[in-house]
Amino acid sequence: MPIKIKNLTFKYMTGTPFEKTALDNVSLEINDGEFIGLIGHTGSGKSTLIQHLNGLLKPTSGEIYIDDVCITAKGVDLKKIRQLVGLVFQYPEHQLFEETVYKDVAYGPRNLGLDEKEIEERVKKALEVVGINYEKYKDKSPFDLSGGQKRRVAIAGVLAMQPKVLILDEPTAGLDPKGRDEILYNIKRLHEEYKITVILVSHSMDDVAELADRLIVMYKGKNILQGTPKEV
Ligand code: ATP
Ligand code: MG
Repeated sequence: MPIKIKNLTFKYMTGTPFEKTALDNVSLEINDGEFIGLIGHTGSGKSTLIQHLNGLLKPTSGEIYIDDVCITAKGVDLKKIRQLVGLVFQYPEHQLFEETVYKDVAYGPRNLGLDEKEIEERVKKALEVVGINYEKYKDKSPFDLSGGQKRRVAIAGVLAMQPKVLILDEPTAGLDPKGRDEILYNIKRLHEEYKITVILVSHSMDDVAELADRLIVMYKGKNILQGTPKEV
């Protein structure tokens, strides 16, 4: 699904002495099925930007269109938007809250009202993509897993929703090189197989340069540069 961001400005704690402009008049277009690498220094506004794309944050000014629907308009159905736009947070371990890995990954599909058979299929597939053995882990508590495993399970939870736009905020942080390559390879494979739009946020050029069709560079709340990995 195409995404259009028009003159997006966002201030944290507007109207208080702590007001902080995190996004400063950002305009961007992302094509259907594109793989975007969103990079920039710490504090440049990457996480703030992507949290607007599924309605978690409301802009101070500006608009966002997803598939030509203005998601920043009043009265928009955010539940529907969140089915289409899957967001894996920067610290996804906070996204885990159920007593077993199975229940955690099944949470989204269950909310979609799917039957148990379909839910199980989706959970299996999603865990496979992130490299977590279904039989071995399905009944384990997510809280007993390592940081890297929690991260994978949280990613699986979003994948199980089968979103049309997949946004991952630093998905490889805290993983070893093998885990990193495995996750990135599988995300690329999903992107190619299902033609989903992917936005991969990263500090590091290395993670995204070989995967992304286009890089967008943020600096102090502005998107200062974009182009193919070679151009940037
Ligand atoms: P990182 O690479 O460290 O994750 P980032 O590019 O994701 O950084 P953001 O988290 O979007 O950056 O932060 C953008 C700016 O907004 C920063 O100056 C940050 O200090 C500020 N900020 C972020 N979250 C909040 C908050 N909850 N309250 C106030 N200011 C915030
Ligand atoms: Mg961030």
